[in-house]
Amino acid sequence: EHKIVRVELSERSYDIEIGAEIISKAPEFFAARTKISHAILITDDQVRPLYGEPIARACAAAGMRTTLLSVPAGETSKSITMADRLWNESLDAGADRKSVVIAVGGGVVGDLGGFIAASFARGLAFFQVPTTLLAQVDSSVGGKVGINLPSAKNMVGAFWQPQGVLIDVDVLQTLPEREYRAGLAEVVKYGVILDPEFFAFLENNVEAINRRDQNALTHVIARSCQLKADVVQADERETTGLRAVLNYGHTFCHAFEATCGYGELLHGEAVSIGMLCASRLAELLERIPAEVTERQLKLLTALGLPTTPPKVDIDQVMAAMQRDKKVEHGRLQFVLPTTLGHVELVGDVPANLAKRAINDGD
Ligand code: NAD
Ligand code: ZN
Repeated sequence: EHKIVRVELSERSYDIEIGAEIISKAPEFFAARTKISHAILITDDQVRPLYGEPIARACAAAGMRTTLLSVPAGETSKSITMADRLWNESLDAGADRKSVVIAVGGGVVGDLGGFIAASFARGLAFFQVPTTLLAQVDSSVGGKVGINLPSAKNMVGAFWQPQGVLIDVDVLQTLPEREYRAGLAEVVKYGVILDPEFFAFLENNVEAINRRDQNALTHVIARSCQLKADVVQADERETTGLRAVLNYGHTFCHAFEATCGYGELLHGEAVSIGMLCASRLAELLERIPAEVTERQLKLLTALGLPTTPPKVDIDQVMAAMQRDKKVEHGRLQFVLPTTLGHVELVGDVPANLAKRAINDGD
């Protein structure tokens, strides 16, 4: 089973193709969309032997001049040091304005590879082959690429849309359990913020999702990409505020990430906990019945995600939340559900209620 999600942007459109056993079709997929004289594949050391090298061999066999570049796996590679290395290695490999960048890996490789594509020779054509669930349902859709500064994540970058995104659900078979589950948190998020039927599909297919069934995954990823694409299409450059719905659970999430020390909690794990805090906050504000939170708690638990706040100093969490960029003039702002499948931006939330929403999660 194959699915194609078409992303319609103001300047141009592109396809996200999702299915099983499609990595072998990669060169065909690229060549159908751009003339490729030189393919620069960017990957990380962990993904390189699994998918980077096979795709590079397939591209070479299809007659493309092919360069395979790799960075160490992990968030620290989203740096100016690695960008500098990749710019120079690309140049040494004979890259010019007609070269095409293909990012093969998780969100780190997608963001970094996309940044290289956006900046080298004032911009190269770009493809994504996301290999983590998080990259497949979230970071490869929306056109945001970039690197981190030592004290600020994603501070330097661009909007740079790909020519196409190729998603092979089979690559998820090698993904570590924790990484897989972390990606599912963003999937649940799409159901809560935009699509009650999709949420019900997830509830009814927990077992298939947990065993990484190909057909279940194809549907889950295609629907997630479609939902994110709908939001992105309405707010391509994050100027109208419509993209804010995607931040459901993320104000709490960022505060937990900041106080836990990065790495202790995976992003998706913090999203899972953060969504439940936001939902409890909506209950405290009498915006939703308890059932909306209970369904999320049940689903997230069934998918193996953590649901209780980490054991950290609550005052530090609150301080981190006050520093978050979504806080305006010291007032707390949250994306909160109004019902399952819809959220609203709520301003002027008393800090003590946010604190209670965290404490009630213990
Ligand atoms: P990641 O890229 O670090 O991948 C996680 C780990 O899994 C890495 O060690 C990687 O080598 C390994 N891996 C990847 N695919 C694998 C596979 N198929 N089999 C085995 N191992 C595999 O992390 P991530 O969670 O994919 O991405 C996180 C990044 O995404 C963050 O930097 C975040 O800022 C970014 N992000 C960007 C956007 C956006 O809109 N651009 C959105 C969300 C997140
Ligand atoms: Zn997220």
